[in-house]
Amino acid sequence: MAIINHWRSLVTQFLERDWNHTMESFKREIPNQFSLPRRIKRLAELAYNLWWVWNPSAQQLFRLIDPQLWDRVNHNPVAFLKTVERARLNAVTNDREYLDLYDCTLDSFDAYMAGKDTWFQKQYPQLKNEQIAYFSFEFGLHETLPVYAGGLGILSGDHLKEASDLGLPLVGVGFIYNQGYFTQHITEDGWQETGTHHLNFAMAPIVPLTDQEGRSLVVSVDLPGRKVHARIWEVQAGRVSLFLLDTNLEENSPNDRQLTDRLYSNDLEVRISQEILLGMGGVRALRLLGYQPTVWHMNEGHSAFLALERTLELVREGMSFDEAAGVVRKNNVFTTHTPVPAGNDQFPLWLIDKYFTQLWPELGLSRDQFIQLGHQIQPWGESFVMPVLALRLSEHRNAVSELHGTVSRDMWKWLWPDRRVDDVPIQTVTNGVHTGTWIARRMRVLFDQYLGPDWMERLDDPALWAGLDEIPDLALWETRMHLKRKLIAFANERARQQWMSGRVHPVQVVAGGSLLEPYSLTIGFARRFATYKRATLILRDTERLLRLINDPERPVQIVFAGKAHPADEPGKLLIQEVYRMVKDSRSGGRLVFIEDYDMNIARYLVQGVDVWLNTPRRPNEASGTSGMKAALNGVLNFSVLDGWWREGYNGRNGWSIGEDRDYSGAGEQDDADARSLYDTLENEIIPIYYNRGADKLPHEWIARVRNAIRTLTPYFSTRRMLKEYMNDMYLPAMEAIREDQPAETRSGTAVKRK
Ligand SMILES: *Cc1c(COP(=O)(O)O)cnc(C)c1O
Repeated sequence: MAIINHWRSLVTQFLERDWNHTMESFKREIPNQFSLPRRIKRLAELAYNLWWVWNPSAQQLFRLIDPQLWDRVNHNPVAFLKTVERARLNAVTNDREYLDLYDCTLDSFDAYMAGKDTWFQKQYPQLKNEQIAYFSFEFGLHETLPVYAGGLGILSGDHLKEASDLGLPLVGVGFIYNQGYFTQHITEDGWQETGTHHLNFAMAPIVPLTDQEGRSLVVSVDLPGRKVHARIWEVQAGRVSLFLLDTNLEENSPNDRQLTDRLYSNDLEVRISQEILLGMGGVRALRLLGYQPTVWHMNEGHSAFLALERTLELVREGMSFDEAAGVVRKNNVFTTHTPVPAGNDQFPLWLIDKYFTQLWPELGLSRDQFIQLGHQIQPWGESFVMPVLALRLSEHRNAVSELHGTVSRDMWKWLWPDRRVDDVPIQTVTNGVHTGTWIARRMRVLFDQYLGPDWMERLDDPALWAGLDEIPDLALWETRMHLKRKLIAFANERARQQWMSGRVHPVQVVAGGSLLEPYSLTIGFARRFATYKRATLILRDTERLLRLINDPERPVQIVFAGKAHPADEPGKLLIQEVYRMVKDSRSGGRLVFIEDYDMNIARYLVQGVDVWLNTPRRPNEASGTSGMKAALNGVLNFSVLDGWWREGYNGRNGWSIGEDRDYSGAGEQDDADARSLYDTLENEIIPIYYNRGADKLPHEWIARVRNAIRTLTPYFSTRRMLKEYMNDMYLPAMEAIREDQPAETRSGTAVKRK
């Protein structure tokens, strides 16, 4: 009992400690780099808050000033305001309509930022002083801030935006990668070439944090033989702050300055150094800024060293390792995304020796005890596995779809040897997408009209979506056709730009989409080219595919996009195989590959195609999210019953490929799935698309579109997802940590927002 009391008082002291000694003294100031007419000077604030990304009227405020320039700067408001001509700015200050839109938009921005009446405030008024820290290796908020590689990053970005919409007291922690992920160019023979894009910091919506004297705020971590320092940038996504670490500082060695250059380096020393910086440095950054989170969410294992840093904090207060780990475990949350053992982030033991020898005595551990925290014997040897560390040091754990939950419990059951597999404590929170980010403007206008202007407020309420029946077939179809024409105009224009670059062979102009037209059934396939995603499944029977796409009565087009990791040779070979078919004259320009997939291309595709194809080898797709983006825009999913689609598919809102079962071998599974794919295309998808009524509309198709939007949008939204994270993960974590304190100190210990 005495020990427990001692322990409680340590926790209390810890939670009450004055972390925010520096809080008053740090500054975030939007760089004063635009010269704007006074009447519209607050455009600068909008440019530096990504709220504009999911609010079309804010986008209009930039676009209307100079639509061509807005496209030329790739919808980057900071770059736009830096380069727009003064005369254009002056012109809109005399435009009554523009000024009305300006005033109205800024009013809603102010109301939003004031954050009164949010879901969180109404639901959890007693929790207003809590803080949730959300760590991720990548964040995909918008293509102008390319610090993401793929689905994991987009999910993190959507998580922040929805936390903002719901009023959750959440902050993000990640990296600003000076070179982001690589850019992709496909050579004439289909080989992926990679290029480097250097982020222009002055043109990015980021703000450096400084002290009162204007000196960068810096955190440091110990790496072998040296300290590495990182400064902190802030990105504002609505009400939520994202803090990004950056080692490009003079006080670092040239090598260390490049530590945060790139995402997913193959160099394991770079990787482990980055992960130490993210996990341990990230905790230090939040402390420096005065945050005192009561929930620590690790999105994937890359940030799991944060659990060590938090444990170390308590060990330094006088706890034993076990006591300290017991405390931090209570409010650590871990989300796993990787159903493939080899895909889990891990390090050989010699690297752990090299990087942590100093740390284990500080934690009061022997080498073996330390290694044990992440130890797993793999077919390729002994490893220190980041998800193992995260699972051991978190009490709240989740997978990202039901099937992925089942797979994860099975995969990690060895960590709970005395439990039945069903009782392995890994829950499920199925992924979602941020509706406001991914919905096409035209579709939003249609919903405004038929669901009511406040539909976004209630979007996770299934009852709201009954209103969809009021939309006439013609209006729904015209919207779909409009979005398809936009995609095709975009692809044509990119093909033209490629051609004009003088870098490509003529056949690549066709391969890039110059022959696309809006009357054919159009299928989209865009995602990472990892082998399990089976991009070439649809090419398995070439003759059958060619017959199908070239049917003169009922032609079909397929648009591919996606990058392979530069070290993934099999992935690059898949791209080559696709590209070979794309440039084959027999495909008539109906197979297309759009290079350099990013969020911008993703938006055009998930809004503009008719069918969204996904062919992962079940059960390797943890969730997938691009199909959710497609569904809310009325695009029909045609996918393997894996990840989210296994939960979303109801027989009338799209189509399935293959069966909901396991196969003994990959070859057998691929054969069965390919056959199923062709059969369904030939017997259902194509006939239904081309079956037109007297009014030329495909009524049966439109009924499916309606069904898809109605049944999938409310559930597969981050609105539902974030509420589940709050209710099922964050709340129990907050309560668990509070239970360790005497009742009278339970409230008011957390820090105010700066
Ligand atoms: C949504 C998205 C992804 C994730 O796609 P999946 O098909 O779910 O793997 C990847 N990259 C970009 C650019 C996206 O927008």
